[in-house]
Amino acid sequence: MTETLLEAAAIVKDFPLGRGRHLRAVDHVSFKLKRGEVLGVVGESGSGKSTLARIVARLLPQTEGTVWFDKANLASYSGARFARAKARRDIQMVFQDPLASLNPRWRAAKIIGDPIRRLGTPDEKSNEEKLVAEAAERSGLPVSLLNSFPHQLSGGQRARVDLARAIVMRPKLLILDEPTSALDASLQAHVIQTLMKLRADLDLSYVFVTHDLNLIRLISDRILVMQKGKLVEEGDVDSLFAAPKEAYTRELVAAIPRLGQRRVDRAGRAP
Ligand code: ADP
Ligand code: MG
Repeated sequence: MTETLLEAAAIVKDFPLGRGRHLRAVDHVSFKLKRGEVLGVVGESGSGKSTLARIVARLLPQTEGTVWFDKANLASYSGARFARAKARRDIQMVFQDPLASLNPRWRAAKIIGDPIRRLGTPDEKSNEEKLVAEAAERSGLPVSLLNSFPHQLSGGQRARVDLARAIVMRPKLLILDEPTSALDASLQAHVIQTLMKLRADLDLSYVFVTHDLNLIRLISDRILVMQKGKLVEEGDVDSLFAAPKEAYTRELVAAIPRLGQRRVDRAGRAP
């Protein structure tokens, strides 16, 4: 049995709308992620995917429910501060729009090294330059670009800076929220190949959020389907695509443009 790395239990998120009313963006969602697994989260825009991702990444507090990571409750017990500190290293988030999430006044090297300066051990801090170069190389960013500012880089290069920043602390889990949505198809394919290779090389697990079912089919082991904040279906990728149970999932699957793409194996090679 592969062990559970992450478990979310009955997560609820309400956003206040004023006058005592609220919007329930995530409605009692529970799931488990096994170590080494790629869990795809799909659903139409507004279904609560990003909100769930941010809760799991500890960037947003949930209204109700529990997130367990490596057997530690990330919210509410006496060891919570320690659990959060560890989780801040071990869980990293990769964003959709690197230009919005990268500090425009910092060079790539400073951006990538930021988690080390905030969360690193003294040893890591004294090796920042080396660790940054290593993360850049693994992420497919030429080290010659480490002195560039975000606006001097292409969209694909910026995605790789964000990726390098996410892996520099050697996390266990990446939460990726539409990480390639801003890229054109060929750049997207390259970044996905890098992600699959990183996963194999660094023993990573992914929660991969996207509205793109073709992409999710390529990379996921298991899929969660969200609709209006609720988890409406869950299953391994092949059975879910072959025989979607819920009407909503059937609609999503029927709407996929057939591009003849194939799955990418664990090492990032197309079979
Ligand atoms: P998705 O990523 O699936 O498109 P989101 O998680 O971004 O969905 O949003 C889910 C719902 O929550 C949407 O109705 C959205 O408008 C609402 N929402 C998201 N963030 C906030 C916020 N900070 N304040 C109020 N409402 C929000
Ligand atoms: Mg979103």
